[in-house]
Amino acid sequence: MIQSMQETKRNDRKQVVPVISRGSKFRFVNGVGIYTMPALERLAGFDHGFSARSGGVSEGFFTSLNLSFTRPESRDNVVENYRRFCRAAQIPFDRMVMDSYAHETTVLCVDGRDAGKGYLRDPLPSCDGLITNDPSITLITGHADCMAFYCIDPVKRCIGLAHAGWRGALGRIGAVVVKGLSNHYGSNPKDLVIGIGPSICPDCFEVGSNVAGEFAAAFPDIPCVLERPDQKPHVDLWMVAAKQFLDAGVLPEHISLSGVCTAETHRLYSHRRDRGRTGGMAAYLRIL
Ligand SMILES: [Zn+2]
Repeated sequence: MIQSMQETKRNDRKQVVPVISRGSKFRFVNGVGIYTMPALERLAGFDHGFSARSGGVSEGFFTSLNLSFTRPESRDNVVENYRRFCRAAQIPFDRMVMDSYAHETTVLCVDGRDAGKGYLRDPLPSCDGLITNDPSITLITGHADCMAFYCIDPVKRCIGLAHAGWRGALGRIGAVVVKGLSNHYGSNPKDLVIGIGPSICPDCFEVGSNVAGEFAAAFPDIPCVLERPDQKPHVDLWMVAAKQFLDAGVLPEHISLSGVCTAETHRLYSHRRDRGRTGGMAAYLRIL
């Protein structure tokens, strides 16, 4: 019953996290690339995705669909990229609500009154996660190696979307989203369906010994720190993600992993691979 959550490139891992499904799909719409996860697509009444870097107007190392407003690029370009992205993903452009990520674990409850925040209007207060039960808006989070946590409750018809870098993952922002859905909308964690989006893989996520030590201390039951000869430690953020959802009461068969590594996929931006000279991608989730 207990198996590794992923097929590691090196077969040297203890098998302690229940297996979760893994898979992603990719499509181009008018030149805009969009990743989805089959396990989430099977849920009727919800729409989700994750942008790639093609089909936009940005140039240089932002080429071409940079969807980050926090990088030194023309705001007009980013807005135009969002227009193209929204057309491709069939998202109403003026009804998005964007996170204001701070690598923390604040999750805000939002609704139609927040539409446009972060790009047409002032941004939300600092937050890395959003929850809603309002079908009139689309939740958006920004990414460039950090995980997107998609959380769907098909019973209560509410959703949560979070940006989880290593700090957010360490702080268990996934559990904060689950708790938010329970408190605000009465969700039972057993009903939640979770997706973990394209993000940096365990083989690419090298860290210093301090960070490795923090993960080993916070997640002592799983081998999330990888020690290899002549290498700095690596952290398996995907395993950390799955573990925090399991601990929050989510069923293992309801967790799926995109398995796409941003640092190894040249159709995606990667902060780590590109040494910060890169654009940003967007995750989206909405109730139809
Ligand atoms: Zn990788």
